Amino acid sequence: MAFRPTFCPNTHCPTRTHTRPFTYQRRGYFRRKCDGRTVQRFSCRSCAQRFSSQTFRFDYRWRKPRLHLRVFDLFVSKVTMRQMARITRVRRPTVERRLLRIGSHCKEFHRFVLHEAGRAGLLQGVFQLDELETFETDRRLKPVTMPVLIERHSYFVVYGSTAPLGARGRLAPHLKKRKERYEAAEGRRRSGSVRAVRECLSEWARVHRRGVGMHLQSDRKSSYRRLFLQAAGDQFGSHTTESSRRRRDYGNLLFPINHTLAMMRDGISRLVRRSWGAAKLRERLEVHFWIWAAYRNYVRGVTVRTRVTPAQALGVVSGRYLPEQLLYWRWPEWMHTYGQ
Ligand SMILES: [Zn+2]
Repeated sequence: MAFRPTFCPNTHCPTRTHTRPFTYQRRGYFRRKCDGRTVQRFSCRSCAQRFSSQTFRFDYRWRKPRLHLRVFDLFVSKVTMRQMARITRVRRPTVERRLLRIGSHCKEFHRFVLHEAGRAGLLQGVFQLDELETFETDRRLKPVTMPVLIERHSYFVVYGSTAPLGARGRLAPHLKKRKERYEAAEGRRRSGSVRAVRECLSEWARVHRRGVGMHLQSDRKSSYRRLFLQAAGDQFGSHTTESSRRRRDYGNLLFPINHTLAMMRDGISRLVRRSWGAAKLRERLEVHFWIWAAYRNYVRGVTVRTRVTPAQALGVVSGRYLPEQLLYWRWPEWMHTYGQ
């Protein structure tokens, strides 16, 4: 099928900023040096910008066109970035750049799906929220919280965020000294848990089906109810809680979210306990989370035995995605033109 551009890739083009219609001209072909693929060239009739079908691709301007697919698999397989650089024989900064690009793309892709599902009124069900605790560089002094919100029957990950937590109490003298050093350099570390939980709940409220109550299940942390009431407003349906002391087995009300957080710990290298791969920077952990969430929602089956993904089970997309389909176009608006 011949490629047809539907908009001009130049963001300053009058066809992007005004309502002028976009028309283009074909300008021959070129052959890519890195993989020998033949690519169609175009020019925009409004701004005269030259571009090609490659301009729209996720691997645009990359000299190692398959690397993002190899590292995508490794990012969800508990492999550290140092080890990835060794396995794929590239430098560590190359892996870091891929992490940032793939992560922000996965987040955009997911938010586009949420946006479309929201407009079509597809997002409803029973949802669960919990926070996973981890740290950046220092376990006692720089803890981090990651609230995650899922739909409980499909295991679909709706949203996740990260925030710093204050340093832990009852510190040994050498840790107290180190804490003072950190505070002198970075200021006092305050808890951002409320902000991060609020962000998850309001993203959910934004796309939840109108006119249908929002149902939340969580542990008994006292701030959850207040934050949920604020986010849901007149959409409030119910809030059911389970004690976090109850055994975390299959009979536990919160089994789906407990299981999801356990999967995150098992898949994301930065979260594996007592390892050398712990997160050095919270922002990178969040980007890494979005790669895992895209894998969980659109690539992997709900369980090992089924090929149906959580996104299909919830009914927000019609097909399962392979990593090369998820990472095919730079613009998630085109996701339907590949692999569906
Ligand atoms: Zn143009």
